[in-house]
Parts: sequence; structure tokens; C-alpha cells
Amino acid sequence: MLKHNLGYPRIGIKRELKKACEAYWSNKIDSNALFEVGRKIRVENWKTQEKANLDLIPCNDFSFYDHVLDMSLLLGVISESYFSIPKIHSNIDLYFSMARGFQKNGWDIKAMEMTKWFNTNYHYIVPEFNKNQKFFIFSKKIFDELEESKRILKLVKKIKPVLIGPVSYLFLGKEKEKSFHRMDLIENIIPVYIKIIKKLKEVGVHWIQLDEPILVLDMSEKEKEVFKYAYGEISKFCSGINIMLTSYFDGISDNISLFQNISVQALHIDVVEDSTQLEKILSFFSSESKMILSLGLIDGKNIWKNNYASSIQKIEKTIESIGEDRIMIAPNCSLLHVPIDIESEHSIHIDIKNRMSFAKQKIYELNDLERIIKGEKSILFSNSSLLEKSSSIFCDQKIKERATKITDKDIERDNHFHIRQKKQKEKFHLPLFPTTTIGSFPQTKEIRSLRNKFRKKELSQEKYDEKIKNFIVDVIRKQEEIDLDVLVHGEFERTDMVEYFSDKLKGMLSTENGWVQSYGSRCVKPPVIYGDVDRIGDMTVEWICFAQSQTKKLMKGMLTGPVTILQWSFVRNDQPISHTANQIAWAIREEVLSLERSGIQIIQIDEPALREGLPLKKKDWKSYFDWSIKAFRISSSVVKDETQIHTHMCYSEFNDIFEYIADLDADVITIETSRSKMELLKAFSVFSYPNEIGPGVYDIHSPRIPTVEEIFDLIEKASKKLSIKNLWVNPDCGLKTRKWKEVLISLQNMTKAAKMARLKLSNLS
Ligand code: GLN
Ligand code: ZN
Repeated sequence: MLKHNLGYPRIGIKRELKKACEAYWSNKIDSNALFEVGRKIRVENWKTQEKANLDLIPCNDFSFYDHVLDMSLLLGVISESYFSIPKIHSNIDLYFSMARGFQKNGWDIKAMEMTKWFNTNYHYIVPEFNKNQKFFIFSKKIFDELEESKRILKLVKKIKPVLIGPVSYLFLGKEKEKSFHRMDLIENIIPVYIKIIKKLKEVGVHWIQLDEPILVLDMSEKEKEVFKYAYGEISKFCSGINIMLTSYFDGISDNISLFQNISVQALHIDVVEDSTQLEKILSFFSSESKMILSLGLIDGKNIWKNNYASSIQKIEKTIESIGEDRIMIAPNCSLLHVPIDIESEHSIHIDIKNRMSFAKQKIYELNDLERIIKGEKSILFSNSSLLEKSSSIFCDQKIKERATKITDKDIERDNHFHIRQKKQKEKFHLPLFPTTTIGSFPQTKEIRSLRNKFRKKELSQEKYDEKIKNFIVDVIRKQEEIDLDVLVHGEFERTDMVEYFSDKLKGMLSTENGWVQSYGSRCVKPPVIYGDVDRIGDMTVEWICFAQSQTKKLMKGMLTGPVTILQWSFVRNDQPISHTANQIAWAIREEVLSLERSGIQIIQIDEPALREGLPLKKKDWKSYFDWSIKAFRISSSVVKDETQIHTHMCYSEFNDIFEYIADLDADVITIETSRSKMELLKAFSVFSYPNEIGPGVYDIHSPRIPTVEEIFDLIEKASKKLSIKNLWVNPDCGLKTRKWKEVLISLQNMTKAAKMARLKLSNLS
């Protein structure tokens, strides 16, 4: 029974990679210094995993920005536009310009599109293909890292290079032109994969991991054919090296028949997300296949200690059915999605901490499982008694009961949208194409250090409040100068939109160092929902009311929605998720009510995570939307008709879920669309969205400043599909990661474009 890992976090325990990348981007360090930071992280990761006694250790799981973009460079999938930038001399600069765009010395090249990685909060850079896309080995990264790992780990047998498999890679990309289907590129791409695999074999690699998460989706017939073809070819031409195909984030029982004539050496399945698949997979394995089955047992997306009894049961069942020499054990997916080391947490209550486990602890859990199988039952007993120990920290009967008493009335606004809209228009007198932003404004060094000082108690509450208020006043003046219509307070008091609330809610905690990569150098620190959740008192009211008192314009209250709080936290796994959602929703509802009572007339409840929580298989969508939409409506339905509820989502793939989004019944939704040039609008040809909507008119994920004309063009495009009385103008997401210099000009351009639209497009109404 070999123990292996699919991937290890690569940001470094102190977010060294983030800091180094950002220093490099702002010319504070050179590429050698950056590479050295990367090397140190890889060495540390390999040594940790070697120490934990893993039999197979991943390599090429490291990335300076994103592993999908790494694949694009490996396979030579690079747009001409990036190659043509004459100022770029090195591959790393080419790489970063693809990820972040390039705007210097008169050059203005956009970043590539970025999107969510399956149902996680990780984002990848979407590969773009031409009709006659050529593939060739361009980047040597995988080979260099392999050589490096050989020096560290000595035994090449132990090293398992990781690649995204050809079918998933094509699937994750998109066509630049409409005249072809990217899956048809399979015949061009396979020879390059074969070449790579052969090269890896030549240098002594025994195992290689090809990630094929497409297997957990509802695959089309075409994708299935392509899959069979791809692995038919690979197994034909790549003998003498062991190939492991990995699936994760859900089960693959519907697609297991694809393996009938495919001879790869191992298949990895996720039995955390879908334990019911084991039965079917085992019956396939015992009759049809000689493959090794790798069981993904340790939860790579959550931070709870493994339940050994449940894992052992799965291991024993597998051994019983296919034998001890055909099983491997591992986490279910890459550990990229969990923080690195629980030992760097010093303030978590011991009863909670004892139940937690981060990447480093998770790989040791594999060891424990092996020891239990070999007879050390005491390890099993102590794990069971730890997890069974009940405590009032985890459970509050009062909260549980309240959640069961939620009625239909609690999830309906008093009147239909049309009535509300009329009342709101009469009250607010906003112009056509009203402008607003999504909430946050640049979080400068000064603000971060202010919050840090306050946290370390180097600053009194009064001093801190006073300084934050100064920032608020300043951002209000700036917004007034730019002439935005609906203002925000800037969110300066918040390090993070979920953490801010979790710190104030009962039943949730924040970690000190629990960072997880979200995209590129951006990391998030998801809170932990460990017990029943309740609101203890006002969370935002004081700040928002102060902000409103400083301006005659409308001030938008800013809250994070229940689904997002839940989705971006590590969620308890001892009760149904819908119960946890309802508890959080009720807490937000009480805050909404408190804001309204204090005179706030527009309240935004952000739900950027709604889509990423979507189950990967369509059959599971309905039950997901049942609880998630209900949670949003619990939070938002408590207000009067005149109070305008906004929500915000930052992704553009909506076409398939618009009806559900409409069900949220928010008065206004702001939404990302600019990166994909308003592709979202296509959805409106088939579904007419009933409420008001602000399709993002510029991309805030890149430092590039949009021109007035291009923003106007997008507004014009939108006004052809949507009634202009329903249209808002706003960026596609919060501005906290941007610099003031960029933000000011971008927003000025945006308001100019909105004014131009009022002049030129108002006859469309
Ligand atoms: N209100 C938040 C902000 O502006 C929304 C962030 C988000 O959508 N991710 O930062
Ligand atoms: Zn957003």
C-alpha cells in the first residue's frame, strides 16, 4: 500500500512566494532573487513530504502563478500578442505578462482570462486555442524541477511529476475563434504529451501523475471519445513508465466504463467528496481491470482531522476486493486548497485545534492509516475518542432551534420587484446608467499597517476608529470628485470580506497563518466554522452610518452574504451544510435590519461565491440552489420595499444559472463581464433577467487602465440587450487590490463613459 500526495501548497509558510512575486513585479528584486525563493519553497516541500515517509512525492506542483498557465507554457500555447512585446526578454516576464497583462512604454496588452478552478476558490488562467493550434515543448520548467528534486530526494523512484492531463487541459481552455471545437485539437496535442512522458521516462521517472478532473463532470459523448482516444494513444506509446490518472472533487462512477480498454497503471478517485462511488469502482476493478486504485481519503479541501475509522473501513473494503498490492492511499486532491501547518496557530482553543489538520498534518495522517492497517489499533481508538468528544463549544441548542422555525414569509420581500423598483426610483432619483463601485477601495500599506497595529494592541480603539474614519472621509471625497452616484465607505476596516464577519460571529474563528492561494500572488485566509453561528451585535452599522453622515449622496451598506461566508470558510462537517447556511443567513438578516433601521437605504449583500459552490454534476444543482438561494433570501427579504438590496458576483459564466440568480430577487446585481467582453450578455437572448443589473465594465484583476471609449462600447453593447432603465455602470469587482493611481483614472473614465451613455443612448429607453 503506497502512500502518495497529489500536490503541496506552494506559497510558503510565510507567503514568501507572494511577497517575492510582488517585489519582482515592482522591480524591487531581480529574477534570480525570485527564483531563489521558489527553489527554497520546493526544497522545503519535498523535504517535509520525504520526512513524512511518503512513497511518491509530487514534483512540478510548484508554480509561480498558476499550474494551468504552466501547462500552457510547457505546451507552447502562447498567443502571438505576448510574443510580440519587444521589451520581454525572459520566459518569466512572458509568463507574467500572460497572467497579468502588459502595460508599459506604449504597450497595452491584456491579461488572459481567469476563471474558477472547479468548485474551489482557486482561479486558473484559461488557455486559448487557435483553430490550427500547434503544440510543442516550450518551457523546460518540469524538467528543471525534476532535476532539482532528484538532487534533494536522491531516489528518482520516489518522484512523481504532475501534469494536467491532455483531455482536461483542452477542456479547461477556450477557442479564440468560433470555427472549431477545442476537443478536436487532441490529435495535435497527444504527440507532445507522449514526447514529454518519454523524456520523463528517459531521466528515470517511474510514476507520472496526469490530472484528469474532467472525469468527475457530466462528460459529453465527444469528450468521452476524445478521452478514449487520448489514453489509447498514451498507453500504446508510453510503455515502461507508470501513469496515474487522478480524478478529484467528485465521483466518477458514471464514467468508469471509459477505462474498459485503457491500460494506465493507476486510477485515483476521491472518496471524500463521493464515498458512494467506491462500491461501483471496486466492482469494475475486480472484474475488468488490473489497475491500481488510489483512494483519496484525506480531505484536501477542508481542515478537519481525518476520521480514521471511516478511512480504514474504505481501505479494508478495497483490500478485500482487489488485494493489498493494488491499493494506494492519498489525500483526495492537491493540498493546494488548505493551509500549510496547524503548528503555526497559537490562539485557537485547544479543543478545536485538536480536531484540525493542515497540509503538513494531512500527509502524516497517511502514515497513521498505514500503521493502523499494520495493527496499531490504539491510533484508531484515540482518533475516534477525540472526534466523538462533545463540548458546548461546538453546540448551541437555541441557535439550532431558531433555524428550524424559519417560515416562507421570512424568505419573501413584501412586494414584487416592479413595485419595489418604482418606489425606489421615486425615492432615489438616480440618473440613467447610475454609477457605483463594488465596495472596497485600495488597501494601501498605510491602512494595512494601521489594522496590524490595532490588532497587536499598539493602537487604542479610539485612535484606530479615528484614523479609519479619516480614510472613509477621504474616500467619500474622492468618490464625490469622480462624481459617482452611489458611494461606498471603502471597507478599510476589513482585512477580508469574510474574515471581518467571522471575527464578529459566534461559532467561527480566524486563523493567524492559514493562508491559501486564490490566484497568482493573491492568498486568502478562510475562517473556520466550528460551531453553531450567531450574531452577537452590530457588525458594520457604525461604520456605514458614519460614512452616510459624511455625504449627501446615497451610501451603500456592505455585507458579505451567507453563501459566501460559508463557501469561503472551512465548514464543519458534522451537520448538513443547509443548517449551517441558515444559521449564518439569520445572523446577516439581523445586520441588514439593523442597517435599515439606522437609515441606510441601499444594502449590498455580496455573494461572489455562489457559483463556485455549485456541484460539478448537474443532477446535484437543484438541491444546492434550494439551500443557497434560501439562505440569501433569509438574509435579504427582511427589508421594506424602498430599501434597495444589491448583490455582487465576480464571474461571468452565468448563462446556465441565470434563472437561479433571478430567484435571489435582489433589486440590483453587479456582475463580472469585462474580461470576457460581455459574453455574459448572450444569456439575455434566451432569458430576460427581470431586475436591475450592472455588468462590470472594466477588469480590476489587471493593472491596465480602461479607456472611456472601450467602456462606452461595453455599455452600448449591454444596452442593446438590456432595458436601459435597469442598467448600472460599475467595475467588475472590488478595488482593494489595485493602486490608487490606477483606480482614480479608471473610475474617472468610467463616469465619463456613463455620462456619454446618458447623452447618446437614452433614446433607447
Ligand atoms: N465588496 C467586496 C469588495 O469590493 C466584494 C469583493 C468580491 O466580490 N470578491 O471588495
Ligand atoms: Zn467581485
